[in-house]
Amino acid sequence: MAGGGRARPNILVTGTPGTGKTTTCSLLADATGVCHINVGDVVREKGLHDGWDEEFECHIINEDLVCDELEDKMEDGGNIVDYHGCDFFPERWFDCVVVLQTDNSILHDRLSSRGYMGPKLINNIECEIFQVLLEEAKASYPEDIVIALQSDTVEDISRNVTKLTEWFNNWRPRRSS
Ligand code: ADP
Ligand code: MN
Repeated sequence: MAGGGRARPNILVTGTPGTGKTTTCSLLADATGVCHINVGDVVREKGLHDGWDEEFECHIINEDLVCDELEDKMEDGGNIVDYHGCDFFPERWFDCVVVLQTDNSILHDRLSSRGYMGPKLINNIECEIFQVLLEEAKASYPEDIVIALQSDTVEDISRNVTKLTEWFNNWRPRRSS
């Protein structure tokens, strides 16, 4: 049930690494006062993983442990969840699912300057080219709550934060019947 009893909405911001999720979420948290949950940080801090993936140099996250960890907060509402995956969260958690998208060559430069190379770089660029996160979001959530936003420039970030802040401020809880 969407909006099940929450006084404030939950937003999921997803997208390929480097599309600007964390930057966008921190600005949105500043503008709205909601809690920014960077799932990668929670996984590291609480050890919610099953070891390290050598090829892709990232933790193999334990999805069940992550969902258990976040359940109470999500029930309260007022969270922005920041993660490069979206198919394992309960559908009922989110009132809006934002997929950030970036032009391939811009993303390539961002990830290279972040030190990504080899299979990790190629995998992420392909993920963006094939719109993997948009498809995953559409397959996992009602189509009318999924929105794709372009994130190529700092102006895009400002526009996206303004738009999402307005959405957040206009959101009203649904009456449960
Ligand atoms: P993510 O959390 O999706 O991996 P970040 O927010 O950490 O992405 O952004 C990665 C890098 O790219 C940062 O240095 C950030 O400043 C830059 N960046 C992200 N989005 C944009 C954008 N729309 N315009 C310009 N730079 C951006
Ligand atoms: Mn991030």
